[in-house]
This record gives sequence, structure tokens and C-alpha cells, in this order.
Amino acid sequence: MTETLEIKITKTSNSRLAQTDFENLPFGQIFTDHMFVADYADGEWKNLEIIPYGDILVSPAISSLHYGQSFFEGLKAYRHADGKISIFRPDKNAARFNKSADRLCMPALPEETFIQSIAALVDIDRDWIPSKPGYSLYLRPYMFATDRYLGVAPSKSYKYMVLACPVGAYFSKTLRVKIEDHYTRAAEGGMGYAKSSGNYGVSMYPARKAAEEGFDQLIWTDAKEHKYIEEMGAANAMFVLDGKLITPIAGDTILDGVTRNTVITLAKEWGYPVEERKVSVEEIMEGAKNGKLTDAFGAGTAATIASVGSISHNGEEYTLIDPKDREFSQRVLKTIDAIRYGNAPDTHGWNYIVG
Ligand SMILES: *Cc1c(COP(=O)(O)O)cnc(C)c1O
Repeated sequence: MTETLEIKITKTSNSRLAQTDFENLPFGQIFTDHMFVADYADGEWKNLEIIPYGDILVSPAISSLHYGQSFFEGLKAYRHADGKISIFRPDKNAARFNKSADRLCMPALPEETFIQSIAALVDIDRDWIPSKPGYSLYLRPYMFATDRYLGVAPSKSYKYMVLACPVGAYFSKTLRVKIEDHYTRAAEGGMGYAKSSGNYGVSMYPARKAAEEGFDQLIWTDAKEHKYIEEMGAANAMFVLDGKLITPIAGDTILDGVTRNTVITLAKEWGYPVEERKVSVEEIMEGAKNGKLTDAFGAGTAATIASVGSISHNGEEYTLIDPKDREFSQRVLKTIDAIRYGNAPDTHGWNYIVG
């Protein structure tokens, strides 16, 4: 049996809920009334609290600012038609949270603490969860080093926090995508598999370059040869080529996405051939050219499925079939949504019911 955590709760006396415009929810800019905070010191997690959302006071010397001991997670809570609230597969995020922590010499957080902290925050701010189709509450757990020390060494103190943002339906325009063959997000032996803050800072410059060339997104390739596909922006790259679902193996350089795992699980159940393997740039460009590439998308929590409209490499560019006509990604998106919103049986136990 799991014990219920002791969480001190201080509710806001000044809710912003009534003033919030739920018709206009730019991603990651509207925060709920509360946030979760906990401190790590002397080898243990303490001061577990839910407090009103607001600025925090930190030392200018905290080592997360200087040396990047900082990482995060991203997951969502959904409102079902019967009013129940669920969080999608938080156990997966809890496990990945600790993988990231380990890579950065940061302390583990018990998985139960991770899940219960999030569930408690979602419960207190449950009125913030939109009920419109496609809408949800985005949850952002994160950890950062708080020692006041300018030496390069793992901090001894940390903060774990959770923020929550109501978000609208992701407007999935089809993306004009470029296969990157110079810049690198992650290398063998690096930290690509961790959701460490530094991985996102490093991706901004190449993303800006690609945007200047008119692309919406880039596809990362291996650091050594730029011959194999790794990820698409901050989402896992997935393709249907010759009737098979193919995706790169989630190894050192590739984040083990929850959405990726969900898509693969469903595909296998439907009897789709699935191949987790090296995916070469050459075979994808060839498939785009000869029409055997019938689906291409990024899989991640924010968009679920972000469809690739056209794909470009070395000045060669091909437009893929209209996303409306893509059998696989349409079916996947519909199925995942039905499960998350409680409109289809949750046969895998993916929904963590808050109540
Ligand atoms: C978060 C993220 C993903 C998607 O993971 P999900 O668990 O599906 O949200 C994929 N790649 C990168 C680099 C990411 O940061």
C-alpha cells in the first residue's frame, strides 16, 4: 500500500480563475492558482507544500543557473465527460524524472512523491481544467540545484516544483520540416535521453536558423555522420514506410517518449508491423520521393501527433500526402484522445484517476 504524503496546503485568497479567458490560452503562459514546492537537503526531501502560484526568492549563486543542474517533465491532466479528472501515464514520467536526475547527479524523487504531488495540485486546481474537446491541463514538474556555490560540483540542495497551465487544443498545422545535417542536439555518451534544460538551450540556435530558411521544425540526425534520423524538434520521429511503423531506437541520444511508447503499443495491438531501429535519412527521402512514405509525424505530449507536411534535405524537398488522408496517425490520435478523455475503455490502465 502506498502512504499518503504529508503535504502542507496554503490556499490562495485571491483566485485568478474568474478573470482567466479560457477562449485564449497561449501555451505555457497562463498558470493556475497554486504550485507545488519541496526542498531537498541533508539527504532527504522535506517541506512538501502547495502554495499560491508566484515568484520565488533564490540566491544569485545557485548552481543550476551557472552549470545547468536542472531538468523537467511534461504531462497532462484531462477532464472526462462525467467530471472525473485523469492524468495520463504519470508513472512513466516519474521513472523518466529519475533517469534525468541520475544523469545530472541529482537526487531521485520517490515515484509516489512525484505522482501524489501532481495529483494533489491537480485536485486543488481542478476547476482550472478546461472541459472543451482537445483542451487539458499541462503539468510541469522540474528540479533544480540550489546550493550557493560557484564551484563546479553537484549541489547538495535542490528544489522540486510543479506548475500547471490550462492549455487549448494544439493547432496542428502541417509542418515544413528540414533534416539537419550540421548541428547536433545530442551525441553518444551525452544526455539526449534526459529531459535536461541544457538540451533545449542548445537546440534553439539551429531551430532559429531553420526558421530563417522558412522551416517550422527540424529533424535531428546522429552527431557522427548525420546519416540517421534521431528526433523531430522536442518530439519523437515516427514514420509509416512501406506499410510499417518505423522509429529510431530510444537510446543514448533519443528521449524515451511516453507518446512514442503509447503509439507503438497501440500499433502492435492493431497488428501493424513495428520496427524500432536505425532509420536512415536516405530511406526516408527515397520513400518521400516514391510515395512509400505514407505518414510522418512527431510524437510528444504537447501535440500528441505533429504531422510532417513536407520534408527537405540538402535542397531536395518533397510534400507528403495530406494529413487528413493518413490512416495511421488519424487512427492513433483518435484512439489516444478517446482513452484520455474517458470515451473509450482504458484497457492498459494508462489513466491515473484523481477523482
Ligand atoms: C518531451 C520530449 C519528447 C516527447 O516525450 P513525451 O513523453 O511523449 O512527451 C521527445 N523528445 C524530446 C527531446 C522531448 O524533450
